[in-house]
Amino acid sequence: MKYQTTLDYAQRLDQEDPLSYLRNEYHIPKNIKGKDWLYFTGNSLGLQPKATQDYIQQELDDWANYGVEGHFEAANPWMPYHEFLTENMAKIVGAKPIEVVVMNTLTTNLHLLMVSFYQPTKTKYKILIESDAFPSDRYAVQSQLEFHGFDAKEGLVEWKPRDGEELLRMEDLETILEEQGDEISLLMIGGVNYYTGQYLDIKRIAQLGHAKNCMVGIDLAHGAGNIQPNLHDSGVDFAAWCTYKYLNSGPGSLAGLFVHEKHAHTKDLPRFSGWWNHNKETRFNMRQPFDVMSGAEGWQLSNPPILSMAAIKASLDLFEKVGMDALRKKSEKLTGYFEFLINEIGSRDIKIITPSNPKERGCQLSIQVKNADKSLHQKLTDNHIITDWREPDVIRCAPVPMYNSFEDVYRMVETLKNVLK
Ligand SMILES: *Cc1c(COP(=O)(O)O)cnc(C)c1O
Repeated sequence: MKYQTTLDYAQRLDQEDPLSYLRNEYHIPKNIKGKDWLYFTGNSLGLQPKATQDYIQQELDDWANYGVEGHFEAANPWMPYHEFLTENMAKIVGAKPIEVVVMNTLTTNLHLLMVSFYQPTKTKYKILIESDAFPSDRYAVQSQLEFHGFDAKEGLVEWKPRDGEELLRMEDLETILEEQGDEISLLMIGGVNYYTGQYLDIKRIAQLGHAKNCMVGIDLAHGAGNIQPNLHDSGVDFAAWCTYKYLNSGPGSLAGLFVHEKHAHTKDLPRFSGWWNHNKETRFNMRQPFDVMSGAEGWQLSNPPILSMAAIKASLDLFEKVGMDALRKKSEKLTGYFEFLINEIGSRDIKIITPSNPKERGCQLSIQVKNADKSLHQKLTDNHIITDWREPDVIRCAPVPMYNSFEDVYRMVETLKNVLK
């Protein structure tokens, strides 16, 4: 695709964009003068759909009107409420409905999944992560190692970029697995790296891990609603993701969980239980014996928070209307345009560390600015641009196809240019 550098051109792209109407479905934060902020942190907290308020109000009204009877009488009965989310969520991550459930929060889900899929032995006990794993994931696997009586340092194997490089190479994972695969029990990898924006080939990771009898789990916090991970076809054993980043479901909202169909009916997998993973037909008999549900629902513990689920429903209904294919198509163009403009600045101090191949990234670009410090981020903020700073010198910037425009991107780069002068 050939892009141009003018504001006219950006505005033309917006006019031609079949998804440009979506911006109006979201609340765009405004500065004190009532002007829209240029919001590029959908990778951290997605914006609020205007419909969310009504979805939550519906549940508040039903609670007011029905009390406990709302479990059955509410417009969207609370008893099966999580089921209203499953199909749309499954489509977003490329899974079958039996493989997906919305519950808990992300790190909690990772732990519950590791209860089942991290079953170390004395000799095969290590966990492999990427060296730039999100801190919460690193802490989670370290604590799992320690919980099982292993040394967290010794038990952690890191897949690192080579010296002088930022991105991970698949051949390096192959080497690690050839050399240490017999000692590795679990691969727990971020599908889209939160720092570099690199989207890894998770199908290949699953093949490599399984060839060495390792379990393979993927954190899709930066993938869900951004890329199309085709979880079922990838063959990974499990995955989890939050819904407050690209899935626009509100701060601290509930998370998604995926367990591959091949494990759906393995009822003797070790797991933690509560009344919500007990067979729903007989749950309220409150009797023994415990009868675990098949599929991802068999990892639930508690009855879920409906108000938060209402916000997820509001967002997923929009995703369903638009479809990931259309979003991805716009996203490749929007981020490609962003990349083009950054490269047009022509500064040797600026380097995009995110892969240039659209198949190896989502919407985010991580831009390294030589000799910059956090004052650069502050200057952008002073110019009403919200980006994400990462020490020592990287701006993470996510033009989200749902609500960011080509003009947003144009204005962002113009400002960056001025600030860098
Ligand atoms: C955002 C994010 C988290 C956050 O975890 P919570 O349990 O939702 O607080 C964890 N891991 C990754 C990779 C993330 O991007």
